[in-house]
Amino acid sequence: MPDEASLGVTILGSGGALYAHGRHPSGQLLQIRQHQFLIDCSEGVQFRMADLGISPFPIQQIFITHLHGDHYFGLVSLLSSMILQGRKKPLSIFSPPGLEPIIRMQLEIAGKETGFPLQFVELLTESASYCIFENDDLSVWTLPLQHRIPVSGYLFREKAGQRKMIKEKIEEYGLSIEQIKAVKRGEAVFVKGRKIPAESLSTAPNPPRSFAYCSDTAYLPELAKILRGVDLLYHESTFVQADAAKAKRSMHATAAEAATVARDAHAGKLLLGHFSGKYNDLGPLLEEARAVFPNTFLVEEGKTYFP
Ligand SMILES: [Zn+2]
Ligand SMILES: [Zn+2]
Repeated sequence: MPDEASLGVTILGSGGALYAHGRHPSGQLLQIRQHQFLIDCSEGVQFRMADLGISPFPIQQIFITHLHGDHYFGLVSLLSSMILQGRKKPLSIFSPPGLEPIIRMQLEIAGKETGFPLQFVELLTESASYCIFENDDLSVWTLPLQHRIPVSGYLFREKAGQRKMIKEKIEEYGLSIEQIKAVKRGEAVFVKGRKIPAESLSTAPNPPRSFAYCSDTAYLPELAKILRGVDLLYHESTFVQADAAKAKRSMHATAAEAATVARDAHAGKLLLGHFSGKYNDLGPLLEEARAVFPNTFLVEEGKTYFP
């Protein structure tokens, strides 16, 4: 990741349920500071990660939105590979209810035993947004979405970061490790009896960023309220406006609807994905979305996006 970016998302799949026009089903690798998270895991996600040089080893949390195959059929193969590679690190998988028995049965019948703690966390999909995971650097919240089966989106909120040391100052003042830690926390330090404020030794931390993942879902105007001020928003846009009736029936969103959510939420940047296999040319989706929310981009597989 570039130095100034503390958050980036790499696209592992950009298409809807069917593989078409070189577009695979859903999967994204989110990096926030030193943490990596997998969001959705369609068939073959592990191969696309391997092609991009992304190791599954550091991932300790996987977030599955719903149990349509294009969002989790890659999970059992990913877990099998982890077992073969002798993984020891714990892994938690968050999803709507029903995933654990499917995965455990597949592993059991294949005679595979996980040599690492594997935990499934079932989400309350009918609930208002609530916090499901937290560490020193970030928190993760559910997003109530609407689809043909229970679904949850995810909102990742980075916490305020540490101040950044000015390297020359470390030598100039001969600062110890403890003093550097204090400065990073924003505390003044004493050097030869003189009090030096943190501001003279360091620069302000990067502003905390946020990322939201909304797929699959019907158009939900009320989402904008929960997403208010989100820096980077991924919202499914399966259809163009001419297919709005189809979108409504299948409980998906159009590009213009995704853009309306982004606009009403005052989002920083919108990423569109989960494109229907019906379209080869995605130009019209981008056009329709940009008419509502100009800072919109169509995701491309293998690319990493920043707020
Ligand atoms: Zn889908
Ligand atoms: Zn779906």
